[in-house]
Amino acid sequence: MNKAKEIVSGYANLVKSSLNLTTEQEEELFNARIEICNGCENNINNTCKLCGCILAAKTKSLYSSCPDKPKKW
Ligand code: SF4
Repeated sequence: MNKAKEIVSGYANLVKSSLNLTTEQEEELFNARIEICNGCENNINNTCKLCGCILAAKTKSLYSSCPDKPKKW
């Protein structure tokens, strides 16, 4: 997947979420992902150690996935 597309999607959804413009289904997905990241040893100060992404945005990108092997989400 195109990295720029992943990043744009993540930050766009971060803004949409803060403005309550996301759907309930999207919020459920974002919350499930962030819960997994919160318990992950690769989460260093809310940044993924494996990919360097800011997790608040990464978990909201519909084009992103966990970079761990096996993937956690
Ligand atoms: S490895 Fe996956 S689950 Fe862990 S912090 Fe990174 S994105 Fe989240």
